[in-house]
Amino acid sequence: MAQSLDPATREALAERIRFYRDLGLTEFYRRPVDPALLAQLAAEPEEPQTDTAQPILYQEEPPIPPRKHISAAPQIAAAVPPADRAAALQMIRDEIGDCTRCALHKGRNKLVFADGDPNARLMFVGEGPGADEDAQGLPFVGRAGQLLNNMIGAMGLKREQVYIANVVKCRPPGNRTPEPEEGNTCSPFLFRQIDVVRPEVLVALGATAATYLLGTRQPLAGLRGRVHAFRGTKLIVTYHPAYLLRDPRQKKEAWADLQIAMRELGLTPPARK
Ligand code: SF4
Repeated sequence: MAQSLDPATREALAERIRFYRDLGLTEFYRRPVDPALLAQLAAEPEEPQTDTAQPILYQEEPPIPPRKHISAAPQIAAAVPPADRAAALQMIRDEIGDCTRCALHKGRNKLVFADGDPNARLMFVGEGPGADEDAQGLPFVGRAGQLLNNMIGAMGLKREQVYIANVVKCRPPGNRTPEPEEGNTCSPFLFRQIDVVRPEVLVALGATAATYLLGTRQPLAGLRGRVHAFRGTKLIVTYHPAYLLRDPRQKKEAWADLQIAMRELGLTPPARK
């Protein structure tokens, strides 16, 4: 029973219940949950508007460059057999090397290439590394990464089953939006990663990722809620997890987007516990 849970497990359970509550899934758990824990959660504000512990610099509508400043995507590369995809990705990583192709290398601690399964059916693309990612060399490992992990879990998948990358592989100073020169210089590597992994569904997290992938500058609202054809795969646009941390009310909208991805993948939500 929940009363016997250690503090870490208890907090993890609380976080999971908060997550599903924010999605609007209030009847998710069948197993009895500690009434005191539920009372504690019920007393919490449903929609915190600010996070004073760690300022989040990500803006939902960043000053992304006009269409004419976004380079056209390279031609789609030939398909790589599944057995060779890990090696093909490593070749791309080797080619990037200790990259100094754009100014972002100057503030870099660790280059963030990608994380996940080279044969993933589902791929997520974000904007660029933040402080935690720059320190660890992995994408989405900070608070936004925890939320992304929860989103992946709600889809019935594990993080290890998807592939995660960013438009730029080095952290922009102060988490600012990548400049066009930076995005245009780095994004060809992302396109090559996409061509190797060949996910069935690609999810663009936020306006910057959507802009560089689709080569179109539109408000996120105009891109969400539908399936775009992209490099032989299906592209779905949703909010960046960092934005969802700033405005948890939009988690329901993000969940609706992820359900489109699940439908395209033939996934059903995980069984109730
Ligand atoms: Fe190279 Fe990309 Fe880093 Fe720029 S952001 S230095 S292009 S790896």
